[in-house]
Amino acid sequence: MNEMTRVAPNNLDAFWMPFTANRQFKQAPRMFVGAKDMHYTTADGRQVLDATAGLWCVNAGHCRPKITEAIATQAGELDYAPAFQMGHPKAFELASRLATIAPAGLDHVFFTNSGSESVETALKIALAYHRAKGDGSRFRLIGRERGYHGVNFGGISVGGIVANRKMFGTLLTGVDHMRHTHDPARNGYSRGEAEHGVELADDLLRIATLHDPSTIAAVIVEPVSGSTGVLPPPKGYLKRLREICDQHGILLIFDEVITGYGRMGTAFAADYFDVTPDLMVTAKGLTNGVIPMGAVFASGKIHDAFMGGPEHLIEFFHGYTYSGNPIAAAAGLATLDTYKEEGLFERAKALEPVWADALHSLKGEPHVVDIRTIGLIGAVELQPIDGQPTKRAFSAFLDAYENGLLIRTTGDIIAMSPPLIVSEAQIGEIVDGLRAILRRLN
Ligand code: PMP
Repeated sequence: MNEMTRVAPNNLDAFWMPFTANRQFKQAPRMFVGAKDMHYTTADGRQVLDATAGLWCVNAGHCRPKITEAIATQAGELDYAPAFQMGHPKAFELASRLATIAPAGLDHVFFTNSGSESVETALKIALAYHRAKGDGSRFRLIGRERGYHGVNFGGISVGGIVANRKMFGTLLTGVDHMRHTHDPARNGYSRGEAEHGVELADDLLRIATLHDPSTIAAVIVEPVSGSTGVLPPPKGYLKRLREICDQHGILLIFDEVITGYGRMGTAFAADYFDVTPDLMVTAKGLTNGVIPMGAVFASGKIHDAFMGGPEHLIEFFHGYTYSGNPIAAAAGLATLDTYKEEGLFERAKALEPVWADALHSLKGEPHVVDIRTIGLIGAVELQPIDGQPTKRAFSAFLDAYENGLLIRTTGDIIAMSPPLIVSEAQIGEIVDGLRAILRRLN
């Protein structure tokens, strides 16, 4: 490339933005330049109330001094240590601390750098686990329609979002999908778990039987599907999945990238639903979204299956240059301290009914066809405009941004998940803002 063809500094084209309509965005960029607690500051100096905790991750609110100081201190003390065949204390400390808040039995933690990497790691652990036990015939993975498990090849294969799959060819083989549980006709305007649909869990049995249960390695679900529009599970559904898995030797993986770290008013959704998976995938709230980090929790049964061979051999051929990175680990420890000291999981639990009442008060507003709330997560589903899917919800997003509110949209659904420090007054502000937007929308 010669000098003439190089892009000018600050040319917006140089940054190929993820999951963004790049050409549209660059005509009128929306830029954040600062953040504090519940608010972002825009490049033009406006305050924007964060109703989405960034991307479902900033659970303790923005720029919390305890976390930012821990990062600065660690960066000055030990910036990086090789992740393979070397260790440093903070990663061990963080893993131990995580094991104390995890559902009982999930005592072993494998570090990654993101939700997507955590998903790949969990799928690989599941496949390798069966082989470690001498059962190489279990090679199939089961996901679910409308499941989101990140963007790497395993994740989009078990995921159930057409747009995320169709550009990329054949994906992983040996994958099948259960039906999703979204049924607004029976479960409209739900609070907490959906009333109807437990029988949909038997889809796992149908698929397992179709392929022969002894070929199924694992099933992966989000306890509450987030990215495809906040789909709470039907009552009893996750328990039934657990039963079927136990009957047929299938591992159950929960993808708790959104639901982990207090979002449901419990440490993990596994606690909220009282169902313990064999593997639990997390990221986001682990470090308050501040430093990229993910963690996969594994049961003793799984860990033990890997630890049985000769001691000098590597047990699991997998890992990342930044697995357990010291700065990320320091951020994770400071984040867990913040959650604990401020009682943020309990706070989320106490706010769940307040949040539900507020959001459900939007029933009957223009274009609203469904509202769903669970934990500190909520969705307002809009009537699609014929032939223009996503247009109305995206207009709501733009209006919200212009008027000082950050929401998320997915298709025709507005999704929200405020930081757990949100006040009752701010919940009121979010809902009043949304009400005004809905009344302005075409
Ligand atoms: N799984 C779930 C359930 C998610 O919601 C996400 C991200 N929204 C991911 C995986 C992927 O996480 P990341 O973007 O950190 O790779």
